[in-house]
Amino acid sequence: MAEVLIQDQTRRLVELQKIDGEFYEYKIALREKPEKIEELKKAFEQKKTGLKDLEDRLKAKQLERKEREGDLQVKEADIAKANGQLSQLKTNKEYKAKLTEIEGHKADKSIIEEKILILFDEIDAINNKMAKEKESFGKEEKKFSDEKAAIESEIKQLEDKVKVLESQRQQKAKEIDGKLLSQYERILKGKEGLAMVPVKNNSCGGCYMNVPAQVVNEIQKHEGLVSCEFCARILYLEDSL
Ligand SMILES: [Zn+2]
Repeated sequence: MAEVLIQDQTRRLVELQKIDGEFYEYKIALREKPEKIEELKKAFEQKKTGLKDLEDRLKAKQLERKEREGDLQVKEADIAKANGQLSQLKTNKEYKAKLTEIEGHKADKSIIEEKILILFDEIDAINNKMAKEKESFGKEEKKFSDEKAAIESEIKQLEDKVKVLESQRQQKAKEIDGKLLSQYERILKGKEGLAMVPVKNNSCGGCYMNVPAQVVNEIQKHEGLVSCEFCARILYLEDSL
C-alpha cells in the first residue's frame, strides 16, 4: 500500500479507535449497571426478610400469650371449683386438704400470670422494634427506588450514546481498507477495546514496554501497520499522522 495511504489509513484507524474506546467503555458500564441494580435489590430484600422475621416472632409470642391466657382461665376455674367445694366438706382434714389444693392452684396461677406479663413485655419490645424497622424500611424502600431509577436513567442515556457511536462507527469504518479494518478489529476484540496505541517516550501506549528505535523508524516509513512486539497492538506516532 502506498505510503500516503498507510498514513491516512492509520489516522482514520486512530479516529475509529476513539469511537471504539468510548464504545467499549459504555458497553462495560451497560454490563455493570444492571448488576448494580441487582446488588441494591438483594440488600433491600434482606431488610424485607428482617422485618418478616420480626412479624413471625410477634405472631408466635401473641399465640403463646393466648395459650397462657387459656391456661389462666383453666386455673381460675379450678380455684372457683375448689372454693365451691369447701362448704360441702365434712371433716377438718378434708377441708385442710382442699385449702392446700387451692393454694397449689393459686401458686400455679401466679406463675402463669408472671409468664403472661413477661410475654406482654416481649410483645411490646417486638412492636417497638418493628415500628423502628418499618420506619427505616420505608426510607430504605424510597432510597432503593430512587437509586434504581437513577441507574435506569443512566442506562437509557448510555444506550442512546451507544446508538450514536454505532452509526459514527459505521461511517468511519467505511473509510478504512477492509484488510486493515479486520486486523484492527481482531486486536480490538482481543485487547479489550484498545487496538491503536501511540508510542510515547519510546514506550508502547498499551503495554508500556519499550519500543526500539528501529520499530519507530518503521512506523515513520508508513509502509504498513506496525505492531508492538509485546502486546500486538498497532503502534502510531502522534506527530506523524
Ligand atoms: Zn504494547
